[in-house]
This record gives sequence, C-alpha cells and structure tokens, in this order.
Amino acid sequence: MANPNDVIKGEEVTLDIEPGMNILEVNKKLAQKNKELLQKHNITAIDIMGSIGAGKTSLIEKLVQKLKQKYRIVVFKGDLTTTIDAERIGKHGVQVITINTGRECHLDANVVARAVERISLNDIDLLIIENVGNLICPAEFPLGTDKRVVVISVTEGPYMILKHPFTFMNADAMVINKKDLAKTMNIDTNQLERQAKDVKPDIKVAVTNALSGEGVDKLIKDLEL
Ligand code: MG
Ligand code: ZN
Repeated sequence: MANPNDVIKGEEVTLDIEPGMNILEVNKKLAQKNKELLQKHNITAIDIMGSIGAGKTSLIEKLVQKLKQKYRIVVFKGDLTTTIDAERIGKHGVQVITINTGRECHLDANVVARAVERISLNDIDLLIIENVGNLICPAEFPLGTDKRVVVISVTEGPYMILKHPFTFMNADAMVINKKDLAKTMNIDTNQLERQAKDVKPDIKVAVTNALSGEGVDKLIKDLEL
C-alpha cells in the first residue's frame, strides 16, 4: 500500500514570489487555503516539528500504530533529500508522501498544497505531517494544519525552550521525548514543562518514550484524536 517512492521535489514547486511580496504573508494565505480544503473534507491535520533526532518519526510510528484502526491516515514527510523516514512509517501500512525540500530547512504551505493534490481527499480522516528536522524556522511557516506539535527530547539539554521561545508560542502541544534518559541527562521534565507554559500558557504537554510508546496516549488525548 505504502509507496516510499512517492516523492515530491520541493525545488520544482518553489513559491512564486514577486519582488516586494512578503513570503510569510503569501505562505499564510496558502496555509489558509489548505486549511479550508482539508476542513471541507473533514480531514484533521497535524504538523509535527522538532530537531533532527528528537524522535518525530518514532512518535509518528506509534501514533499510526495506535490510530490506524480508528482513522484513515496519510503521512507527509518533509526531508531535505532522503526517504528513510517514509520507509519507516510506510511499514505500518499507511500512505506516505515524501516532500524533499532540497536546501529548504522547513516545509511551506505551497509544497504541502502540491502533496495534498496527490491524495484522495474523500478517503482520508487524518493527515500527519512530519516537518523537516529543525526546531527554528518551521514555526514561521504554518501549513494549514489544525494543530501544531513541537517535539523536544531530554538529550537536547535544558535550554531548548528558553532559546527558541517562538517555536513553542506557535505550538498547541509539546512532547518531551526520551523520558527514560531524563535522569542520565540530569533533566527535570517538570521544569521544561513550566518553561513552555511561561511562553504559551495553554500548551499541552506529554512526556513520552516514543520507542516504548509510553506517554503517547496522553499526546493523543491532547490532540483530541
Ligand atoms: Mg524523522
Ligand atoms: Zn527553514
């Protein structure tokens, strides 16, 4: 069912911007169009952001395993050049479309619109988008999803939120992953949670081990799935 060779080349669909146009404004309008199209077809869409190695793909694998009986799921996978993650997720029997962004370090609403053209809108309930591994600029490019999740892991140290508050302000939910390593890394997950709530008081927080699946049900609840 899953075809890991379904790849969109981002370079070929770069945003057409006239001089003087604000790229963030254009992106915002396209995101709104994506949102309307997806809502019209009753598709819930989730954008998953976070650094390389935070555990986004492992988390999505667990979400797919837990939710695929309940929803018809499609995953878009943003990556610079590879299809490694698409193959990992595709193993679970869901459709995966890779969006290779080339040099771009984030997905934008335009490439997502191209990927949406490839899916059968009436046969899908849930769209999960794994953004390019990068904690910073994906936050500035909404894709038209209902919710945005930021994944951090305890191995990234204690300052992720203090250094990148903008990313957390733009997220509906946060995942603190690799909880099994918190003690070894000397990280207090409660402190990370407090820091996130300082910048985004209503952010939902799940503390997980994406490999074992621990805490993933809390994220599902946080996303109202
Ligand atoms: Mg990944
Ligand atoms: Zn970027």
